[in-house]
Amino acid sequence: MSADVDSVAGPAGATTDVIAIRCPADGRLIGEVPNQTVEEVVAAAESLRAAQPKWEAIGPAGRAVWLAKWRDWILDNRNRLLELVQAEGGKSWGDASIEALAAVESLNYYLSTSPQYLRDEHPKASGVANVAKRLSVRHRPYPLVGLITPWNYPLAMPMLDCPAALMAGCAVLSKPSEVTPLAWQEAVRGWRAIGAPDVLGVVTGLGATGAAVVDAVDMVQFTGSTKTGRLIGARAAERLVPCSLELGGKDAMIVLADADLERAANGAVWGGFFNAGQSCTAVERVYVVAEVYDAFVERVTTKVAALREGMDSPGTYRTDIGSVATGAQLDIVERHVREAVEAGARVVTGGRRASDAGFVYEATLLVDVDNAMSCMREETFGPTLPVMRVADADEAVRLANDSNYGLSASVWTKDKEMGKRIANRLNVGAVNINSCMMNVFQFPVPQAGWSESGIGSRGGGAHGVLKYTRPQSVVSDVYEPRSEIFWYPHTSRLGKLQEFAVGLLGARDWRRRLGLKKH
Ligand code: NAD
Repeated sequence: MSADVDSVAGPAGATTDVIAIRCPADGRLIGEVPNQTVEEVVAAAESLRAAQPKWEAIGPAGRAVWLAKWRDWILDNRNRLLELVQAEGGKSWGDASIEALAAVESLNYYLSTSPQYLRDEHPKASGVANVAKRLSVRHRPYPLVGLITPWNYPLAMPMLDCPAALMAGCAVLSKPSEVTPLAWQEAVRGWRAIGAPDVLGVVTGLGATGAAVVDAVDMVQFTGSTKTGRLIGARAAERLVPCSLELGGKDAMIVLADADLERAANGAVWGGFFNAGQSCTAVERVYVVAEVYDAFVERVTTKVAALREGMDSPGTYRTDIGSVATGAQLDIVERHVREAVEAGARVVTGGRRASDAGFVYEATLLVDVDNAMSCMREETFGPTLPVMRVADADEAVRLANDSNYGLSASVWTKDKEMGKRIANRLNVGAVNINSCMMNVFQFPVPQAGWSESGIGSRGGGAHGVLKYTRPQSVVSDVYEPRSEIFWYPHTSRLGKLQEFAVGLLGARDWRRRLGLKKH
């Protein structure tokens, strides 16, 4: 039995054997994937586990060779991959094509930096009593990492995490979104095509397949909604396996009076509408101080009205923003716009579906909004940009922080020091100054969602790869006498010696060292 994603039941009600993948921009059938069972997930996990020890044994340099070959395969096959990304996501070609760039950048970053971060560490022993100890810390991989991803960037999203986990020496069992599994499935086929060890697998299916992955792995890397993240966090806690949860956001953009208004307007339009607004770090709400509000809205209005909606042909760059990925997501967008208008907001441009076929929605600019509206509180994840007038920076900061989410934010001002001071007051994991969304691609700094935007982080230099490892301490001795003074049997002579040693080595004053002060 086959079913479309929009018509099948949710995670608990997986009722279909095969999932039909349709292009959301025009409804065309572009592929099918199996809705894999728990047994199939368990079998895939077993096979990956069997291959992992050899993968760990070849070391970071050996693993980097395979990642470099995979990078080359992706570069050579990128048009085919991007055509799948575009078709399953209903994207404009321009929006789709950034995914190859992100994939290659991430691969290159982790294959070149990880070997140094994964080196054994040899800390000095602490204290005189331990002077003969030799210490090292090894970074041993979690044998099997589960990589569960959403639909908004079918290739780039798994690629932000997969290279780091592979470089750490883990095997990876990936589960792409049931909405957009095709490009990632093809990328994993590429891993096999280069003859790489069998340490990267993919299973497809609905939420139940994802839940089976959580049950089969040693560490979970999840990107997706806060709702699913909670379920995964709870299950991982029951199993006592760690998880890193990169969840939803409601990013605020704060425009101060001295901002470069042209750059800010261009940034708002790109940050709000890139990928039809379906980025976790999309600009979801804009707070503009009163002095420049009218001028800012005027510029943004012209730019939003000029956006070309729809899915163009591969390689043509004829449209700017494509389709919303699912009917359910379109329902959220329509509800947010409707509820905003009912509560007194005004649609300046856009505000409806672009056509009856597919899920393309017009780029929509909303003004006269307030922080109580659903478009300002809930994640919209669609092509809308609500802009609100605020009295000053203090009000902007207060409203930006009035949110359950804490992913990222942006501050627009010519005074960078002021921008940094405002960043210090924002309760989010990342702040961009005079830019937006770009923190995600700065692999040396962490992308960490605060509050309901997640637990843990991706990237962040050494942390980006070490999060997939467990520290293993190895302790040895330079001298190995037949026995140590605190080993059995206890004797009065050795006991007194130990008592004296506690004072002699632990005290920092001579009276206690020499036992002249009574205890
Ligand atoms: P989703 O949570 O519905 O699904 C994500 C993945 O989880 C899918 O593969 C799905 O099949 C799987 N899944 C569903 N139920 C599961 C369960 N019980 N156990 C295990 N896996 C399960 O999210 P979505 O709608 O695909 O993606 C959109 C969301 O992703 C947005 O909220 C967006 O903000 C978020 N996102 C966050 C980041 C980030 O880095 N913070 C990046 C991209 C997207």
